[in-house]
Amino acid sequence: MEFINNIDYFDQHFLIDKKVLNDFIDACELSIDDEIVEIGPGKGIITELLAKKGKHVTCIELDLNLEHFINVLKDKYKNIDVLYGNALNLYIPPCDKIISALPYSITEPFIEKLLRCEFKESILIVGKRFADNVCNKSLTKLSLLTNSFFNVERIRDIEPNCFDPAPRVMSSIIKLKPVNREELKYSFKRFIFREMFYNRERKLKNNIMEALIEFSKLHGKRLTKRESKEIIKSYNIPEITLNKQMENLSNEEYELIFETLK
Ligand code: SAH
Repeated sequence: MEFINNIDYFDQHFLIDKKVLNDFIDACELSIDDEIVEIGPGKGIITELLAKKGKHVTCIELDLNLEHFINVLKDKYKNIDVLYGNALNLYIPPCDKIISALPYSITEPFIEKLLRCEFKESILIVGKRFADNVCNKSLTKLSLLTNSFFNVERIRDIEPNCFDPAPRVMSSIIKLKPVNREELKYSFKRFIFREMFYNRERKLKNNIMEALIEFSKLHGKRLTKRESKEIIKSYNIPEITLNKQMENLSNEEYELIFETLK
């Protein structure tokens, strides 16, 4: 019984399909100079190829019971290091690539964590529903957040039977590439949302105000606080929404803000 609970807790679905493994590794476009961080190496099926093709792999694994598998790899390849702990709580060092068959239960907090990490690309296996949501640019919090910070590319979908044990749902391989603020100079809504997610502790009205000012700055113009407030007034967003923090907005409110921004 306890064993079953453990499996649930660690969210373990080990990749067993060679074709999917190859597609995943191809998507990683590894080079011999790549500093890699892998979240959840599990039994190391992905890790081994990362070690072969990259410069160095730092693994972060929650389940100490898998130590044996990683140790075998560490003996064989000298460019693997392992940190045991929760990837959500551990510092992810600056690197070229963050790679993971991501435990589905940590998708959202992990994406939030990625916003604060320094890397060039992240190649992930995620639940297909998340991939659909993000690639269709749906107006939900998670999709807006992901699309404001990353360019997202979908590589392929994966059937449940490619994993052991099979998850209940389909999965997808996606690739995230961070976009910086300057690249969003002509993507007004993405820029505003990016600023707002980055300063999420502010009340929405202050958050939009500062974001509008920052956007003007990027275009070499100076918008005063008063002018910015006038613009927000013209949006007619309900006061109750304007007084909330990003965390407390409903998906309907996210949609409303996205639609009204101009
Ligand atoms: N990469 C392996 C395993 C994928 S399953 C493969 O493709 O076969 C997900 C892995 O993430 C498991 O090894 C699990 O123990 C680990 N894991 C789950 N939650 C984690 C967390 N919060 N931090 C780090 N690793 C975690």
